[in-house]
Amino acid sequence: MKNLPQTNREDLNLHRAVDRQFAKAAATLDLPEGLLEQIRVCNTVYMVQFPVRIGEKYEIFQGWRAEHSQHKKPVKGGIRYSEEVTQEDVMALAALMSYKCAIVDVPFGGSKGGVRVNPRKYSAEQLERITRRYTAELIRKGFIGPGISVPAPDYGTGEREMAWIADTYDAFHPGEIDNMACVTGKPVTQGGIRGRKEATGRGVRYALQEVFSYKEDVGRVKLSPGLEGKTVVVQGFGNVGYHSALFLEEEDGCKVIAIGEWDGGIWNPEGLHVRDVAEHRDRTGSITNFPGAKTLKDPKGVLELECDILIPAALENQITLENVDRIRAKVLAEAANGPTSTAAEEVLLSKGTLIIPDIYLNAGGVTVSYFEWLKNLSHVRFGRMEKRLKEMNTDQTLKVVEELVGRKISDQIRSKLVRGAEEIDLVNSGLEETMVGAYRQIREVLQSRKGVNDLRTAAYASAIEKISRSYLELGIFP
Ligand code: NAD
Repeated sequence: MKNLPQTNREDLNLHRAVDRQFAKAAATLDLPEGLLEQIRVCNTVYMVQFPVRIGEKYEIFQGWRAEHSQHKKPVKGGIRYSEEVTQEDVMALAALMSYKCAIVDVPFGGSKGGVRVNPRKYSAEQLERITRRYTAELIRKGFIGPGISVPAPDYGTGEREMAWIADTYDAFHPGEIDNMACVTGKPVTQGGIRGRKEATGRGVRYALQEVFSYKEDVGRVKLSPGLEGKTVVVQGFGNVGYHSALFLEEEDGCKVIAIGEWDGGIWNPEGLHVRDVAEHRDRTGSITNFPGAKTLKDPKGVLELECDILIPAALENQITLENVDRIRAKVLAEAANGPTSTAAEEVLLSKGTLIIPDIYLNAGGVTVSYFEWLKNLSHVRFGRMEKRLKEMNTDQTLKVVEELVGRKISDQIRSKLVRGAEEIDLVNSGLEETMVGAYRQIREVLQSRKGVNDLRTAAYASAIEKISRSYLELGIFP
């Protein structure tokens, strides 16, 4: 970034970008200025530098936990492991979490954590030590706890790290019954919930299904309703990118024509089978050189391919003034946080690109994290108490119907009708309801509020209004 002109550097600052997006939406709302400022600012940031023994040496790691807004508690947000992460990024990502939770009506404030580390450079044992020490630092200062602040996975972390965090927290709080609710995104065997790992990707799918159900919305970019046959390009083949691509291909009949990773991209206009690409990566260590596909050396190359839906699912600032003129997608579905710079967004909006903003589109993860937190606090798997009873009741009802009409229902149909909901069915149903409901709310704001001309501004306006209601109704202490 050193040689960039000032305006461009300013444009790439995620924190400023979030502030600009906030200001654009705030201008359409009739709220007191001081209240808007309180909603905008990041309330608390904790920075820590801690030592970890790596081989024969000590290394000092820098980490943060930012709490953007405590209007609802606990505050919620993932932990990022990246060499690039900065305090400003963590603060910006925490702000996005506050707005995201409000958009999907998850009753949490926004938070985010980060450790400046490249996980690829460390062994699992070393990463465990880094994670446990970072967690201990958070515990020491009251930045983690089931009712205080509940982390989750983000870029560079996953179930494994969440299990280490839960175990460390438990070791510091012996005998406290709700310890497992201190973090979400845990493995199912350690208090996690079915469907959490794939939740953000599944949420992307539900959101796209909803957007593509409105003829007027997709008609504006000259697309027909429905996802079947739509061409999709995904950048980032990690948790979010992989699951988004997988569900869109296998469940909606989309054609995933290209996938990009840090070391290059692959492109096949006939479509890629996402599972096969994942297997190839597991076997060879890279998605590149996938049989039947053309390998693109430039990791950003896939962004410029012609497609119906472009899904950046890696990191922020992937679409900037540098490449925006070459972006040819009709719909930009922001699965990553902050993938589009503000200046690039203006260009895309003027070209008529339909942008589905991060604060709505990737909210599936926090939604299912909320379900996991509820499960941990209730200490029972969703569906366990009522599944059998519902099955028995439906069976009885079917028997009565059969007697009345004098005909038997086929075994196949009977077993479908009788089957009670498992945890995964309930999670996915709750997730779909949430993503559909949130889009309808944002759409309503877009259609009805003067000065709101795009989905991001509508999403922000909806979030700010909801958060302001908390402040206005609860009052401000003292
Ligand atoms: P991840 O670490 O599982 O995957 C990220 C992937 O991007 C990795 O495969 C990595 O190799 C790849 N990548 C890195 N640099 C790249 C580059 N220059 N070009 C292309 N690919 C590159 O992370 P994730 O959890 O999937 O998160 C991805 C994005 O989604 C982040 O912006 C994150 O904040 C956001 N997000 C994640 C969740 C979640 O539940 N995990 C929820 C909401 C938002």
